[in-house]
Amino acid sequence: MNNDFEIAIVGGGIMGLSIAYNLAKLGVTNTVVLEKSYLASGASGRNGGGIRQQWTTKTNIELMKQSMDRCDSFAGELGVNVWLRQGGYLFLARSQAHVDKLEKSVKLQRDAGLPTRLEKGSYAKKIVPGINTNGVLACAYNPTDGVIFPWPFLWGYSEKYCELGGEVRLRCEVTRIERKSEGFALDTTSGKVNCKRLINACGAWSPEIAALLHVDLPTHPIRHQICSSEPLKACLEPLVSDLQAGLYFSQSMRGEIVGGINLKDEPHTTEMKSSLSFLREYARALTRVMPGYQSLKVLRQWSGPYDHSPDGNPILGEHPDCKDFFLCNGFVGHGFMMAPIVGELYAKHLAKSETHQIFSDFRYARFSENSSVALETFNIG
Ligand SMILES: Cc1cc2nc3c(=O)[nH]c(=O)nc-3n(C[C@H](O)[C@H](O)[C@H](O)COP(=O)(O)OP(=O)(O)OC[C@H]3O[C@@H](n4cnc5c(N)ncnc54)[C@H](O)[C@@H]3O)c2cc1C
Repeated sequence: MNNDFEIAIVGGGIMGLSIAYNLAKLGVTNTVVLEKSYLASGASGRNGGGIRQQWTTKTNIELMKQSMDRCDSFAGELGVNVWLRQGGYLFLARSQAHVDKLEKSVKLQRDAGLPTRLEKGSYAKKIVPGINTNGVLACAYNPTDGVIFPWPFLWGYSEKYCELGGEVRLRCEVTRIERKSEGFALDTTSGKVNCKRLINACGAWSPEIAALLHVDLPTHPIRHQICSSEPLKACLEPLVSDLQAGLYFSQSMRGEIVGGINLKDEPHTTEMKSSLSFLREYARALTRVMPGYQSLKVLRQWSGPYDHSPDGNPILGEHPDCKDFFLCNGFVGHGFMMAPIVGELYAKHLAKSETHQIFSDFRYARFSENSSVALETFNIG
């Protein structure tokens, strides 16, 4: 078994696998993905599958326009159906502050060529029959946003990556990292691995991996809960988000209403427990917006960890004081949708030293330099 690699990627979530696949596509195949559990065991297998281009910064809007294209071509390129459904995203604003935020972001989105429209609250009824718009001052709607089914995305990347010559090692936890004169020696639960370059793609567990190299990452985990209902016949086109409540919900291709809500006191942990208070808050907020869902039955409830960063933006690129140690962390609640484009740009960065604005905007050093990037404030949940 080969244990010497050009690049080792720790974390078999969507970020690690997207980088690995895109590297292989560029011909860099002496790589390995080390995953302590199974594919989709982290946040990547636990999310709501929402993909949207409605963001508040130019960078994120542009990134997501490109990521949406990659989602669209994913099935053709990787031969896996990811159940992409572009039913749009509908944001509801109940306060003037939220209306102002939507106004600014819709302008940026329209300038970027997106068909997002800002309308009076009652317009939402045209998009979602049965919605209660009492108290809704305005809404923003982009019909080209959508939802996907997360798991096939991971399977698709993993299978194609292995077909191209890469290797995924499951149940292989990295427990110790030693810095060598060139590269790194890793202890894992299935033996030793050496690599020249190391990528931390561990999502909410990233600070733990960084700490093995005495690197302090300014991200931290926060639990985020979500649930899924019994299936209904197709009745809801967009993903709906009530900004004030921190609520979001959409209908999956199987008919389930899948949604979550931001709870203020969620623990800062990677533990994936569920709470009754989540169901109470979610049900209250959901039935306020959709009174017809009063007797909807919840079939499944689960949680996963958000990987929070101080400015709501990721941390990307080589660590300034730890040569050949690369970071791909801090994606809060939008890492899944960004992975297709971020993985592609990251692979070009590693394989061809190509630079892109995201590697300067989202560099680790911005926190110590006090040179902040535009704060992304449109994280739901
Ligand atoms: C409930 C919920 C809803 C969400 N909804 C959305 C959404 O609608 N749209 C969206 O775009 N994003 C959403 N997100 C966020 C999104 O899921 C994440 O940003 C994204 O999945 C992060 O991917 P990742 O690969 O960085 O991390 P993960 O998927 O968490 O993968 C990290 C992996 O690293 C592994 N690992 C950890 N430590 C080690 C170790 N020592 N050795 C080896 N492996 C290790 C873990 O087992 C894990 O599999 C949601 C998240 C949650 C929790």
